[in-house]
Amino acid sequence: MILQHASQSASPLLDPFGRGISYLRVSVTDRCDFRCVYCMAEDMHFLPKKDVLTLEELDRVASVFIRRGVRKLRLTGGEPLVRRNIMQLVQSLSRHLQPGQLEELTLTTNGSQLSRHAGELKRHGVRRNNVSLDTLDAQKFRAITRWGDLAKVLDGISAAQEAGLQIKINMVALKAVNEDEIEDMLTWCHGRGMDLTLIETMPLGEIDGDRTDQYLPLSRIRARLCERFTLEDIAYKTGGPARYVTVKETGGRLGFITPLTHNFCESCNRVRLTCTGTLYMCLGQEDAADLRTPLRASEGDDLLHAAIEEAIGRKPKGHDFIIDRRHNRQRWRAT
Ligand code: SAM
Repeated sequence: MILQHASQSASPLLDPFGRGISYLRVSVTDRCDFRCVYCMAEDMHFLPKKDVLTLEELDRVASVFIRRGVRKLRLTGGEPLVRRNIMQLVQSLSRHLQPGQLEELTLTTNGSQLSRHAGELKRHGVRRNNVSLDTLDAQKFRAITRWGDLAKVLDGISAAQEAGLQIKINMVALKAVNEDEIEDMLTWCHGRGMDLTLIETMPLGEIDGDRTDQYLPLSRIRARLCERFTLEDIAYKTGGPARYVTVKETGGRLGFITPLTHNFCESCNRVRLTCTGTLYMCLGQEDAADLRTPLRASEGDDLLHAAIEEAIGRKPKGHDFIIDRRHNRQRWRAT
């Protein structure tokens, strides 16, 4: 049994189209201290504890993926830093940070708890963090996040930079909400040594409003930015789906994540695990695999290896997001 397991652990995960799976996003909780209007309804019902993987289970499943070739691991949520004892998981996963094993352990956070955790993240080998920030206007920030406090997030970003973490800002471009702020955000980020990535709204999550009201194609924003800035395409990659340019006037990097205007599937190396142990092979499709049952069925990892292989064998070639009124209220995948 152990020998069979050892041979399995040597083989990297390849999907039916020959794409190696080297990037895993793990949602460590469905809970969040914000209620961003494009992400969650205000009265979210969260999962019962028994359905959510324990920190030890999250570690086990992530470690199996690392043994099978995952080189970048991103913790996300919900809000990863509100999960109780999350630093224990970060510390434990950091044991894989070695050449030839895990190359990067990173987080996507709303920044609200960063002041508290920045130093420890750095000590555990985290080098880069993504912070989601859609506006620099305190009132607008409150309106978008419903519950968030901009000052706290800005303090978190400063604390992270002081601790030596590299910060990239992720800004979801929202029609008539923050579309007039993109130039200011760019200048602000680059003036502080941070990259900025713009994200198109995706039809994810169960929200209260109408998505077609929020959708803003980044092709339009890019054209507008070109009137004021010189954007130069570069090959820079972070392992994620963003395409980058450098902005000549600021010397900083700007990324675009454009699932709707530009299909980025052909080079997809990513899968996503929810906090309930459900593996999604594609961001834009509902097909998923249950890893919690094999994880909890035995103490060894053989069943887990088999379930992961079977799932990766079903990874689709691409996704087909559609923003229209019929698809406006897609179901939220438990994260
Ligand atoms: N709480 C963390 C945060 O705020 O970064 C991690 C989870 S959050 C779901 C991850 C990212 O997804 C954030 O940058 C958020 O803005 C983005 N996001 C959420 N819903 C989205 C949507 N419908 N379309 C595009 N981006 C979305």
